[in-house]
Amino acid sequence: MTTTQGTESRTHWSETAAEVVGRLRATFNSGVTRPLDWRVSQLQRLRSLLVENEQELIEALWADLRKNAAEAKVQEIDFTVADIDEALADLESWLEPRPVEVPAHFGPTTTAYTTYDPLGVVLVIAPWNFPLHLLIDPIIGALAAGNTVVAKPSEMSVHTSAVASRLLREYFDADVLTVVEGGAEETTALLAQRFDHIFYTGNGAVGRVVMAAAAKNLTPVTLELGGKSPVFVAPDADVEETAKRLVGAKFGNAGQQCVAPDYVLADPATAAALVPALRAAVDAQFGFTPQTAADFGRIINERHFDRLTALLDSGRVAVGGQHDRDDLFIAPTVLTDVDPASSVMQEEIFGPILAVVEVADLDAAIVFINEREKPLALYAFTESEATKSRLVKETSSGGVAWGQPVIQLLMTGLPFGGVGESGLGRYHGRYSLEAFSHLKAVADVPLN
Ligand code: NAD
Repeated sequence: MTTTQGTESRTHWSETAAEVVGRLRATFNSGVTRPLDWRVSQLQRLRSLLVENEQELIEALWADLRKNAAEAKVQEIDFTVADIDEALADLESWLEPRPVEVPAHFGPTTTAYTTYDPLGVVLVIAPWNFPLHLLIDPIIGALAAGNTVVAKPSEMSVHTSAVASRLLREYFDADVLTVVEGGAEETTALLAQRFDHIFYTGNGAVGRVVMAAAAKNLTPVTLELGGKSPVFVAPDADVEETAKRLVGAKFGNAGQQCVAPDYVLADPATAAALVPALRAAVDAQFGFTPQTAADFGRIINERHFDRLTALLDSGRVAVGGQHDRDDLFIAPTVLTDVDPASSVMQEEIFGPILAVVEVADLDAAIVFINEREKPLALYAFTESEATKSRLVKETSSGGVAWGQPVIQLLMTGLPFGGVGESGLGRYHGRYSLEAFSHLKAVADVPLN
């Protein structure tokens, strides 16, 4: 294994996928990745990469998604650095073996504990919508757990992926972390190899491809997928405050967020009050011409632009609706009179369109949610503890948040992941260590 760290540690472009994995497996098998000190030094390396190259990364994020500098810094860099800092502060205690109670009939000297074992060589496949954070965040867990890593950034976010790939090669020994750039073809070649864990973030169709490939080697997977995350707005909600928070959560990154509110469920009277409040909140946040707003993003490419604009006739355009293909701009849009059978309700929107669907009441909202695939997030605006309690107990979703969509993702004490169609497994904070480790059982019976 080479121990060279720095610009000379280039990816071996001439290597096959099998050679890349073989090289990383040799590193893992050498035992070098197991000590706490090694893991800490890799996390510090990752931290330096983000902090020392902030400006270049922010410019790349602007080029891909027109993320303004403040948003890019907070969401893609600062949050990721905070996750690294948490791992640096807590890893030693997370790794402490945990004693387990031993039944009395095994005798007083018998002991047992659990310990986290690294898995080996892991593959991290990232998407384009938070192309830096969603590439680096799983790598934090993979390195903290003592693994070697193949990182596959998204080919769609060309600028950010190019900069991140170059920096990962500069900051990491290629025998510890190798970046493989490319799309379906390169990922397919990687998936033909035996990894010890595959961590995939993206859509469910490719999630199935990843899981089928992993099954051939009994490789465990984490699938961080998406789905249609509903928002129940109860009649007791303050509609102005609800609208303000919904607009902030929905239209950030032009709605291209896995946990973005997808559609609103409200009774007719609440919906009628909410829609003008949403219009006012959009005007207040983005001005009357959002195309010129500094903090409103763009659609990643023409294919997604065309997919999204085709959804606009699924209802009545009550807010926004303007679009400009040359600029990949779609205004913050609210659709009302949405028929549940219309196309906007068939697939995850993943763009700046919010659908409002009228339901009779909470009972009908719960039925509506449960008739559909399990979402990544469920949100509600209500003062009623009884309503919150019913929603949390009577529906299934990756997570829930009352009163502030998306916030659950930012609390690293909470696990982040989906259920059913929205994903498999979880990460963030100590859950990232768990995602990339095997929880080993150790029993010890003294000879005398
Ligand atoms: P994408 O197109 O960038 O694809 C994700 C990754 O899959 C890329 O690295 C890509 O190269 C790879 N890929 C594409 N086709 C492949 C194939 N045939 N075989 C193997 N690999 C292939 O991103 P996307 O899927 O459009 O991302 C959007 C989706 O991801 C949405 O559904 C969103 O909700 C979800 N998402 C989930 C989370 C989460 O944390 N749960 C976060 C972001 C996005």
